[in-house]
Amino acid sequence: MNKQAFKDKLIEGFKQKRFLLFCLAYLLLPVPLLTPIAHNIGFSDCLWAIFFSVLLLLSLFVFLQFFRIKTVKLCCTVLLIFTVVPSAIFIAYLLFAQAFLLSDSITSIFETNPEESKEFIAYYMNPFITAGIIAYISIPVFMILKMRASHVISIGRHKLAFTLVITVLLLFVTFRPAAHSVYFINFYKTYIQYKKRHYNEKKEIASRLKQPFAVTKLQPDTVGQTLVVVIGESLTRRHMSLYGYGRKTNVLLHRGDSSLAVYDDVVSPQVHTIPVIRKVMTFLERSHADYFSSRPSLFELFNRAGYETYFISNQPYGGRYETSYDLLLTQAKHQHDPSLHKKPDGVVLPYLQEALAEKKKNKLIVIHLMGNHMAYVFRYPKQYDVFHNDSDGFIRSKAKYMTPEARKTIDRYDNSVLYNDFVVSSIIRQVKASKASSAVVYFSDHGEEVYEMRDFAGHAYEKVSSYMCEIPFLVWRSPSFGRYRTDLTFDPARRFSTADFLYSFTDLAGLRYQNFDATRSLLNQSFKPRERYFGEYTYKDVKDMTANMEGSK
Ligand SMILES: [Zn+2]
Repeated sequence: MNKQAFKDKLIEGFKQKRFLLFCLAYLLLPVPLLTPIAHNIGFSDCLWAIFFSVLLLLSLFVFLQFFRIKTVKLCCTVLLIFTVVPSAIFIAYLLFAQAFLLSDSITSIFETNPEESKEFIAYYMNPFITAGIIAYISIPVFMILKMRASHVISIGRHKLAFTLVITVLLLFVTFRPAAHSVYFINFYKTYIQYKKRHYNEKKEIASRLKQPFAVTKLQPDTVGQTLVVVIGESLTRRHMSLYGYGRKTNVLLHRGDSSLAVYDDVVSPQVHTIPVIRKVMTFLERSHADYFSSRPSLFELFNRAGYETYFISNQPYGGRYETSYDLLLTQAKHQHDPSLHKKPDGVVLPYLQEALAEKKKNKLIVIHLMGNHMAYVFRYPKQYDVFHNDSDGFIRSKAKYMTPEARKTIDRYDNSVLYNDFVVSSIIRQVKASKASSAVVYFSDHGEEVYEMRDFAGHAYEKVSSYMCEIPFLVWRSPSFGRYRTDLTFDPARRFSTADFLYSFTDLAGLRYQNFDATRSLLNQSFKPRERYFGEYTYKDVKDMTANMEGSK
């Protein structure tokens, strides 16, 4: 074959295969090519992502030369089905948050309740985004339809080449760096790992519950007690006037009341609800993931200590989409799901009233609020729509990102903080009125950033800042409880992470059991502050990173 004929054949071959090549490139390359705009992964990781994605593209392209057009179209359709959801999520994350989605956050996506996702999507969906999504899916569908039959290479005559290309493709499943670098393979591998973990944890917890585990009480069990844990949602203490915020977002909760300890230096151990719940409700540690299921969790300890246990959640749980949240919290003897009413958090109050009225000696009531989660406007009733920058001119920032929409978002967040003040103080008021020897602990699962230093509102581990981990932490106790437990120390200046919440809360109840560690209880005289981690970062790292960003805004 002369040079010209070879060139012609090559061009003709490319013309025939161009839709296949474009289709593969369309499905595989946009995510890795966008990774350099992410600020949370290094340059070499970006290069590896691009390298492995191109290698996968070429291997698939060569591999498909061995098959007839029907099979090629089928393979491309399967690839489209498998890549469309992860690529949309990765691209949205890259474009809107300039962040590359990490495995922990991928797991959080799988653990997010579908109801919550629906609300989130409904809030952000607009005709432009809908049109964008339709166009995004139509392009590869068009390319698949346009693919035409062309020359098929015989496997029998090119055994070596075929074996080689299969070997390379298998690498993407078996060789960790390759699998990790291709976004959609990493996405599904994370899903499989998550499912496996969930299955094992479920099995282990069920078998452990049958084993004996002694939980004793420090004090003679003559006086019954009612203990209430209120878990808030996405509330940073920086938007609470109780902690010095300029807008009066706390009108009912206030300092100076000796029965209420307002802790000034408490942080959450993570930034997403479920990873936080997994740490707060169990003895899970960074270096001991197994403690999640090998050691008892909150409800189990109190059930074993003879408490009547209640769980009231305004966050949907249970049902078909069982997560580790359900594994832990459905261990309560009585469960209520007021989230079904789809109303702001005041909806939990009648359920609390009912639980308080029950004639039981010792009670543990855990309330999980929807709190201040996005979209903020759904978190409060109309009468709490009180903060308007247009009238109070509170937001002084002249930053470019401080658009009218951003100001409105801050107003709405502050309205939700004001309403949360009502909900938390109402819970305390109800418990107080029950006249039991009682205590209420309130804290938020994690914080929230609301346009403090950049064009961003929300919480995401990839964009971690101190706004997302500095949380309110309040302990209220009734006068009789105070007289009964003079051994406890309430020092609001203590540096604490809710990673050690279980040690502290069981100490508040006076429970003792194997592995109890008094140095980790916020309320114990022997308390010793420890290094506080936020995912893989120390709190100091997060503060430094935030200071850098604030300096460069
Ligand atoms: Zn949360």
